[in-house]
Amino acid sequence: MIGYLRQAISSFRRTEVLVFLPALTLAAFWIGGEGALLMIALGLPLVTLVVVLVGQGAGGGPTGGTRMIEDLDTVMALQAEAGRTTACFVLQFDDPVGLIDRYGRTTQSEILACCNDRVRGAMRLGDSLTALEDGSLVVVLAPVYRLDLETMVQIAGRIQAVVHQPIMARADVVHVTCSIGFCHGRRAPEPTGRSLLDAAQIAADEARRHGPGAIRAFSIDMARAKVNRDALRDGVEIALADGQIKAHFQPQISTDTGAISGMEALARWYHPDRGCLLPGEFLPVIEGTGLSERLNQVMVAEALSALADWDRAGFSVPTVSVNFSAAELNDPKLPERLKWELDRFDLTTDRLTIEVLETVVASSENDMIAVNIATLAAMGCGIDLDDFGTGNASITSIRRFALRRLKIDRSFVTGVDEDREQQKLVAAILSMAERLGLETMAEGVESPAEHTMLAQLGCRHVQGYGIARPMPADEVTVWMGRHIERIATTPRIGQKAR
Ligand code: C2E
Ligand code: CA
Ligand code: CA
Repeated sequence: MIGYLRQAISSFRRTEVLVFLPALTLAAFWIGGEGALLMIALGLPLVTLVVVLVGQGAGGGPTGGTRMIEDLDTVMALQAEAGRTTACFVLQFDDPVGLIDRYGRTTQSEILACCNDRVRGAMRLGDSLTALEDGSLVVVLAPVYRLDLETMVQIAGRIQAVVHQPIMARADVVHVTCSIGFCHGRRAPEPTGRSLLDAAQIAADEARRHGPGAIRAFSIDMARAKVNRDALRDGVEIALADGQIKAHFQPQISTDTGAISGMEALARWYHPDRGCLLPGEFLPVIEGTGLSERLNQVMVAEALSALADWDRAGFSVPTVSVNFSAAELNDPKLPERLKWELDRFDLTTDRLTIEVLETVVASSENDMIAVNIATLAAMGCGIDLDDFGTGNASITSIRRFALRRLKIDRSFVTGVDEDREQQKLVAAILSMAERLGLETMAEGVESPAEHTMLAQLGCRHVQGYGIARPMPADEVTVWMGRHIERIATTPRIGQKAR
């Protein structure tokens, strides 16, 4: 019903209709005389004005959110009475900011409007569409008697298919992707329009986190996870300021000598109520609140401070590695800031290693990240390519990023001692690294057998639970004391000649 009304209004708004106005006025005069002429000449513009105003209020424009909730309430009430049901879909574009960077704000708006038009064209007559101010698009299905999960996934897929078709903009072919979350009318936590829209939005946020191009159906677990995230979000700024977020360190050792070759700093949140939280739980919150740079500052300071302490205690830890996200690597002041931090602790630049995810290197058309990494490498910092093997970085990008070492992802390491195929893959990575003049480290090494096989294949460094779990800085000191004793008394693992 809402959809029919909206379409009638939009066709009434079409300017082409106005060409019939003179003919109508003339016909009115012939048929009904002066009275009819006056009615048509004054009445028609008046009716048009009223219809257009109603149309604006009906949610066709970007501020239609409130009106849409009312419409949704009506649909939800109808659903309860008539045994029919609806579903709400929320579409979020995956990279709207990237489109502004590439084409400017006006063209970006045109591109998104074109996508919205396509979605409108892909829906049935009674379905309603509303563009929200944050750029997302809400689609509400006209109530139907049967609506199962498979149908809803198909509808989401159909919406994605039209959005994902190429668009011409400024003589460029643009590929836009979107993620979609949806909620079945009977799955909303409460039988209200607000609750249904909120649920679909929670699902859309979840989809976007797993995007690009993801689809998610709302579930109660998702709502619980969101409550947790919201609670964390409120506390994260204080946590960073109060020192609740600390670095744990995981040792990296040489396969050749067993000596410590470095320590990786991994973030931990000592939450006052929830205990020690892992990055998987709070990193998305930090990224979502724009606090990545602050986290990075904390981690670099913690890592360098621990390194200076170990130096003073007489331990040899050649370098400490810190993980950097794409957002942190985008900061033009990064090299200057890191140099300042190293100076503050009186450490040379080679003592800090920057870990960059392979996905960042592979997907980056971003020159700022490449420039920063090149500057840091020229300064003397080590650059490690993290999770290597998962991100499809090309050899060209590996060269462009002035890397020092490949960190072979855990997925290649698990079971490498038994699986011939894994051995072949790792051997191929090692030989490619050797030809490119790169060092290698295997991560996620859990067993002595994996450790031995990696050493025999020629991998130079290893890290993983099999050597040690990540631990607080003071425990690292105790571990190092014991490790040094252990390697003094253990025969070395031999390296196979290749
Ligand atoms: P990552 O950089 O790949 O770090 C290795 C992760 O694998 C760590 O998880 C570590 O505890 C775990 N791990 C190490 N050895 C083993 C093993 O033998 N077996 C298994 N199953 N796991 C092992 P963690 O600490 O939960 O960190 C997860 C991810 O969070 C890290 O993956 C890294 O991408 C990110 N991260 C951690 N700290 C920071 C940070 O300060 N900044 C940024 N941007 N990301 C961070
Ligand atoms: Ca890492
Ligand atoms: Ca890794």
